[in-house]
Amino acid sequence: MAKKSTEALSRRDFLTTTAAAGITAATLAPGQAHAQTNIQWDHEADFVSIGAGVSGLAAAVSALEHGASVILVDENFDIGGHGMVSGGVVHLGGGTSVQRKHGIEDSAEKLYQDWIRPDHPLARYNDRDIVRAFADENAPTFEWLIENGVEFHEDQMVGPQMASTVPRQVRTRQWPNKDELYTARPSRRGSGLVRALEKKARENGAEILLEHRMTRIIRENPTSGRVLGIEVEHEGATLNIRGRNGVLIATGGHCNNVQFRRMFDPRLTEEYAVAGDPYSRKSADGEIAAMALGASLWGTSAQTNEAERVLQKARHIGAKYGYNSLHWRADSPIFDKIRGEGLTDVDWNNAILVTMEGRRFYDETVNSYDFLAAAMAWHGDPGKRNGGGPIWAIFDHDAVERQGWEPSPPYVDPDGYFYSADTIGELAKRIENEFQVKPMESSVLEATVARYNTFADAGVDDDFGKPAPFPKIATPPFYAAWSTPLVHDSYTGLRTNASAQVMDLQGQVIEGLYCAGESQGGFNQHGLGRSVVFGRIAGRHAALSGSA
Ligand SMILES: Cc1cc2nc3c(=O)[nH]c(=O)nc-3n(C[C@H](O)[C@H](O)[C@H](O)COP(=O)(O)OP(=O)(O)OC[C@H]3O[C@@H](n4cnc5c(N)ncnc54)[C@H](O)[C@@H]3O)c2cc1C
Repeated sequence: MAKKSTEALSRRDFLTTTAAAGITAATLAPGQAHAQTNIQWDHEADFVSIGAGVSGLAAAVSALEHGASVILVDENFDIGGHGMVSGGVVHLGGGTSVQRKHGIEDSAEKLYQDWIRPDHPLARYNDRDIVRAFADENAPTFEWLIENGVEFHEDQMVGPQMASTVPRQVRTRQWPNKDELYTARPSRRGSGLVRALEKKARENGAEILLEHRMTRIIRENPTSGRVLGIEVEHEGATLNIRGRNGVLIATGGHCNNVQFRRMFDPRLTEEYAVAGDPYSRKSADGEIAAMALGASLWGTSAQTNEAERVLQKARHIGAKYGYNSLHWRADSPIFDKIRGEGLTDVDWNNAILVTMEGRRFYDETVNSYDFLAAAMAWHGDPGKRNGGGPIWAIFDHDAVERQGWEPSPPYVDPDGYFYSADTIGELAKRIENEFQVKPMESSVLEATVARYNTFADAGVDDDFGKPAPFPKIATPPFYAAWSTPLVHDSYTGLRTNASAQVMDLQGQVIEGLYCAGESQGGFNQHGLGRSVVFGRIAGRHAALSGSA
């Protein structure tokens, strides 16, 4: 246990400044409104990361190499965050050794220009200072990952994708799973990134405190002075952890916090699960704790659905967590939470998609923003005007045969996410789900299927123009499989400067507070690249800055 010390916090300052910022105790993270005059530190280090995911681990390795001692806390049972379950496709260019190997000409300047392009929705809303820092640090960060043990499939590059005009993505090699300490839980390529950084961080002396949940960030005075440390909950106890040089918010964004995500799009109500669930949460805890200190959000227009779609069509159906590139398997150690692999490789000619009322809403074969907007639209239920409610795939026995599916556990989750019956009317009656706020009427689903079958006979979908031919839904048993879209990235978050220091509503740096990864605002790029770059910047800056 580290030595104890005390720091003063003024309750009067705290209450005055939070009120001025329009923040009340009711809106704060748990514990934010507590007055404290003496702080007993249970652990201390130069640098503390809240979150041991991609940006937290990158920051830890970076801080350690610049001489700082490091503690990472994570609420999860294991490290890695969404990086662990990610596809491991890392977006870093600007003239890397791998780009040169493939004859790709790139530079920091070209990368910068790509990511501020006014003609691209992923680029036009970005903060130019953030992108400049990102561009300048891209190639050095890629080489730094290799130096720190991250292995890539260097024989193949991905792209150009998103706003990039040349290929800049390389896949990491999945962690080999040989060493018991680092046994990957869900085995995904992203494990190669986070396990390698974890290994390096541990070798260099980082302390990783799992199942420690940050509940508060502690600052000298609520909207003035340095950030001193954090409060965490662990096994029912509250502990204080001091970060002498700095504290990093690396909590992965906000998408699991329904109230928070609805600030940017009111349609994103509770029925939409999050890509990466249920491994770890994009809790918004970091953003909320920082906002309670007066921190600003930034680049909120980057969260718009017009860009890289924030919502994504379900790919594996009949279970809750059917996100596109993440196909959970029954041998996962967290399968008790997942409860169904999902029926996959859906040929949408074999099924219709209906709302919770039992009505079709779009051509099922389409995967576009307009499809998702239709899924999220108001379907006439006076009790639920925001969010489209559950979306169900309806199909028959013949479809199951054509697809080669086994419509039973572990592939489907009959506890609220998959139903079967001998008639369409009975199928509608059986549907019960935590987000199905009203029952599906048998008569509505019967009429929907009957009308669709006339379109199948005629070879023309008069309602939504689904390309013909498509078979009828006519052979029992009939099935209803959960097919509700899922939320993906957080593209907005806390305002930082180019050194990843969090800034307040007056545009001033909050000394000692950093943010990286999906909790950082102002830069609309998917995933790992920006998380690693700004984690590395934050760890280095904190280590070199020293405490005030
Ligand atoms: C299925 C999937 C596939 C993906 N594939 C790719 C890909 O191929 N390429 C790409 O570039 N990106 C990909 N991504 C995105 C990428 O994984 C994320 O953008 C990246 O992990 C974000 O890093 P982060 O550090 O912000 O958050 P994370 O890596 O998610 O880490 C956040 C950590 O904070 C912890 N935490 C949250 N709240 C608290 C709290 N209160 N106290 C303590 N700890 C807390 C969490 O448990 C978690 O471990 C994918 C994501 C998913 C879900």
